[in-house]
Amino acid sequence: MTHSSTLIETLTPPIQELANAFWPPACLSCDALGQSPFCLPCENALLHAESSPQQNTHHHLGSLWLYGGPLSLAFAKTKFSKQPHQMKKLLSWLVQQGFLEKHRDLFQQHPWDAISWVPAHPYRRLQRGFNAAQLLAIILGKRMQLPLFSSLKCVRNDAPFSLGSSKAVRQKNIQGRYRAHPKARKRKILLVDDICTTGATLGEASKQLALAGAAVHTFTLAQTPKNN
Ligand SMILES: [Zn+2]
Repeated sequence: MTHSSTLIETLTPPIQELANAFWPPACLSCDALGQSPFCLPCENALLHAESSPQQNTHHHLGSLWLYGGPLSLAFAKTKFSKQPHQMKKLLSWLVQQGFLEKHRDLFQQHPWDAISWVPAHPYRRLQRGFNAAQLLAIILGKRMQLPLFSSLKCVRNDAPFSLGSSKAVRQKNIQGRYRAHPKARKRKILLVDDICTTGATLGEASKQLALAGAAVHTFTLAQTPKNN
């Protein structure tokens, strides 16, 4: 699924220029032409925004970014773009910059033996063409030299939560959505998700892994400010 981006990246310069003429790089947030994933103003807004949220609890290690501004626009557009290479580009930039700016030391000496992600229901994954949480796990796993482990299955295709859903509503509706792999037992897993809103999804997913006998820490790319 990444062939097209890899191909364009490895083309020789003249062909790269030609490719750029047909598909000029554009800001994934504001669509300004010239630079991707973010134009300079969006990049500056992101890099000079308030610092990221700190650790929430013992098991939740926090997030690289606050969800808002150019990040939320770019993310919302890219999530439904059916272009996994754009999402990969966005996530790679956010991971790279997030680590450089904020979390350089957080993952240096870690206890985990695998990295995993909150899965989407197969039908929804097929509809969207990718699952951002899984792409995030691939990118982070590479960076941290952690093997990927598909530790959870999404067994129910619920409608997405509306933005205003309370934590109580989310927690109630999400019960039974995930099933843990039997091989999760005794594993030390870093479970990642793309966006954390109330923490209900991540809470239910990690609970299933813990019930299956795994030791779990969670981490998200971004979280909404009200989670602070
Ligand atoms: Zn922009």
